[in-house]
Amino acid sequence: MEQLRNYINGELTEPVSKTYLDNYEPATGEVYSQIPDSDERDVLLAFNAAKNAFESWSKTSLESRMMILMKVADGIEKRMDEFVAAESKDNGKPQKLARAVDIPRAVSNFRFYASALQHFASESHQMPGVGINYTLRQPIGVVGCISPWNLPLYLFSWKIAPALATGNCVVAKPSEITPYTAYLLSQVCIEAGFPKGVLNIVHGLGNKVGQAIVEHEGIKAISFTGGTETGKRIASVAAPMFKKLSLELGGKNPTIIFADCDFEEIVKQVVSSSFSNQGEICLCGSRIFIEKFIYEKFKEAFVAQVKTLKVGDPNNDDSNMGAIVSFQHKQKILSYIKLAEEEGGAILTGGNEVKLDGRCANGYFIEPTVIDGLDYKCRTNQEEIFGPVVTLTPFENEEDILMMANSVKYGLSATIWTNDLKRAHRVAEKVEAGIVWINSWLVRDLRTPFGGVKASGVGREGGWEAMRFFTEAKNVFIKS
Ligand code: NAD
Repeated sequence: MEQLRNYINGELTEPVSKTYLDNYEPATGEVYSQIPDSDERDVLLAFNAAKNAFESWSKTSLESRMMILMKVADGIEKRMDEFVAAESKDNGKPQKLARAVDIPRAVSNFRFYASALQHFASESHQMPGVGINYTLRQPIGVVGCISPWNLPLYLFSWKIAPALATGNCVVAKPSEITPYTAYLLSQVCIEAGFPKGVLNIVHGLGNKVGQAIVEHEGIKAISFTGGTETGKRIASVAAPMFKKLSLELGGKNPTIIFADCDFEEIVKQVVSSSFSNQGEICLCGSRIFIEKFIYEKFKEAFVAQVKTLKVGDPNNDDSNMGAIVSFQHKQKILSYIKLAEEEGGAILTGGNEVKLDGRCANGYFIEPTVIDGLDYKCRTNQEEIFGPVVTLTPFENEEDILMMANSVKYGLSATIWTNDLKRAHRVAEKVEAGIVWINSWLVRDLRTPFGGVKASGVGREGGWEAMRFFTEAKNVFIKS
């Protein structure tokens, strides 16, 4: 069986423990590769390699840094089919989604930050007759990047690329549930002639490898994307060490539909924003609020459309939804569906596991599930499920919807469907979220700030925000 390797000091290495963890294909339920069960000893090796590389990498010319990051992007693109197949196999997502979104976006992340580094500028502040201040934006040193399983390479590269572009060296950990494309990335880095030690990828469990990265006193900044509880744990370790922290955490996003929306157009779009990637996108809208005048009409049209979705083998192009990422996560989602019923919800469609024939007979599949009749305060409507489960709730007016939308502890994104421009602005301003889409969903411009409020996180990624996060600002004053 194939054994993946860590990428430390420019080489593919065995974990110090020489032990491995099983890696499952969620569509079949079978183990298909093994990943290093690394620990703090591997993190230490990675840190030492990164520290040694820092002196040279931080002084590498901007153009050379740009060229090597571009080479990595080209390297991924050249092996597109392999990356697409690997991401789908590891995560369970349909191949067509990995081809349309995940892997092209990883390529764009490297290209975007490779070009950004050539345009990144710092400020100067003149004091007439007194002098001038200029701000140096210096790389931090060795930084840690920790990412989740839902958009594996997409989110991994979203952190690594700006960290490297700004001259830092990186110790990175992909999710142990979806390690494969990070392993392919380490091969691409070697092919591209990436300098040794600048990027190090350590595979393994969160409470061993992740924890060791967060606890290492030489790793000065942590960029983390994952669950809110993990984020809390990371903050409790990193904050007293005064590390810079960027935390992109969970969500329970509202989709807000006013009666004056373009009804025919939105039904399909709301199906996408609910069930893309099996609902396992942090930006999916899991609480759908509909103005009461069109509640019944929307419910009928939406449920009819959801029923047309095909749950199937991720390798088949006609599958709209693939497998849930793991057995444990599938069980968690099913337990929430049960909870919704106990809380008085009516299942309008879905609610069950899907049993497929053939190679996917033992895979982890769940029907797209739509529930109504629940109070907005119940657990189903307050806790993150992170699967193909949405609730429908009617609302009376703007005040009512804002109260319900903002009632959760999370505040990642919100989607508003209306043709009333003034109302769109009003609601966008008042909804508690870091990202708001009006009459669209998941349109991404990599220059914009990305992140959440409340329990959805601290800090912003994207554009200059990430470049600023990965640099320390030092103000220098010169008397005139
Ligand atoms: P998770 O928190 O379980 O794991 C994320 C990463 O953290 C993994 O690499 C894991 O190994 C590591 N980790 C676990 N324990 C750790 C510890 N004690 N110290 C350091 N690292 C540790 O999250 P997940 O289940 O992989 O991902 C799903 C979650 O991610 C959902 O809550 C989802 O909303 C969130 N998410 C948020 C965003 C965003 O941009 N806000 C994007 C994608 C996913």
